[in-house]
Amino acid sequence: MDFDWTEEDRAYRARIREFLKKELPSDWDEISRHGPGSREQTEFSLQFCPKLAEAGLLVPHWPQEWGGGDRPTWEHFILGEELWAAGEPRGAQYMNVNWIGPTLMRFGTEEQKRRFIPEMVAGKAIWCQGFSEPNAGSDLASLRTRAERDGDDYVINGTKIWTSYAAMAEHCFLLARAGAGQGKAGIAIFIVPMSTPGIEVRSIPSLIGHGDIHETFFTDVRVPAAARLGEEGEAWSIINYSLANERVGIPRYELSTRVLNDMVSELKQRGDFSDPVVQARAGSAAAACEAARMLVYRTVDMKARGDIVGAEASMARVAVIEADHAVTDFGMEFLPDAFNGRSHPAFLAHHERAIVTGIAAGAAEIQLGLIARHWLDLPKGVH
Ligand SMILES: Cc1cc2nc3c(=O)[nH]c(=O)nc-3n(C[C@H](O)[C@H](O)[C@H](O)COP(=O)(O)OP(=O)(O)OC[C@H]3O[C@@H](n4cnc5c(N)ncnc54)[C@H](O)[C@@H]3O)c2cc1C
Repeated sequence: MDFDWTEEDRAYRARIREFLKKELPSDWDEISRHGPGSREQTEFSLQFCPKLAEAGLLVPHWPQEWGGGDRPTWEHFILGEELWAAGEPRGAQYMNVNWIGPTLMRFGTEEQKRRFIPEMVAGKAIWCQGFSEPNAGSDLASLRTRAERDGDDYVINGTKIWTSYAAMAEHCFLLARAGAGQGKAGIAIFIVPMSTPGIEVRSIPSLIGHGDIHETFFTDVRVPAAARLGEEGEAWSIINYSLANERVGIPRYELSTRVLNDMVSELKQRGDFSDPVVQARAGSAAAACEAARMLVYRTVDMKARGDIVGAEASMARVAVIEADHAVTDFGMEFLPDAFNGRSHPAFLAHHERAIVTGIAAGAAEIQLGLIARHWLDLPKGVH
């Protein structure tokens, strides 16, 4: 067990920082103020990701056959840490790199791979994820959007909600009921072009930013059967594969750590860091960030070894959420005036995202339930 980075890893990290220094514009703080889901940042990603791709820094971990570099999982992870801490200039495209692309490569037909992977590798593809519905979030298996087979087509009807990036996305990775199966066994995945007639997208105003989350309505949306990913009823195992990648996909502790360091610097500058209570709280937040980092590293290590990641992913996610909260709570308590959005925009941006971090990509309580069942072996329903 070695907890240190190799020389090669350090050099790789330094190269990414250098790249970011060169490529991020002087008004990047303003562009990134509203987070990866905002229109500004998603538009920016369409200029930034092609440059990242040209530098070999977009999908280094993907197989060469599909435009990657066959590089170790850890390189991709270092990349994720640096980009997320810089405000995620990949915008919505982090999803392609982390899980949509790998899911297509694993479960897609040759035709689907050839159609969609090259655009992702070029850094020019915006996708959205149509999972949640007004009455199906945590209990995703109860979703009602229906895809009815009609000859060589499917006709899709239903409503999705909280769909990030939907207003700018070209494709939706959509879950819908298809065939006769019940619950989880009745769900299929469809790749739906967002320009298909019958799709309406409405932005939902929210504190995390402009145009970030949406309601997406599907009315008699017709897609060919070739738009289905996997078989009818097979979606659940594909989704589990995707979600395990998504849950550890965002190394938020890296940003939390940097924000905490900036908060401590600010307190020191003000002469307010000598109070032992302040120091103890800062120490506790730092410990939460490091605990999250280590738990996430374990899941990355498991993935790198080809092991199946189970409850470990849920634990890592809970720790990441707690670290986010510990840092923002610390700042709000000891530097409340610095959250005005002007003097330290990163504090407010981090705070806003910390509010939703325990909901998006599967609520924290659901992760705790998974840990209870799969780690502590408690029966379902007792927790
Ligand atoms: C910023 C953001 C971006 C998002 N982006 C997308 C996206 O792009 N695509 C998409 O499909 N979805 C997206 N979501 C939706 C997200 O996946 C859901 O909000 C999440 O799964 C929770 O579902 P829900 O909102 O329906 O809440 P509910 O499932 O109704 O849960 C409400 C509360 O009840 C608790 N709860 C529910 N069931 C249990 C249980 N069994 N045990 C204990 N507690 C429980 C939850 O933890 C939560 O606190 C996004 C959400 C946010 C906040």
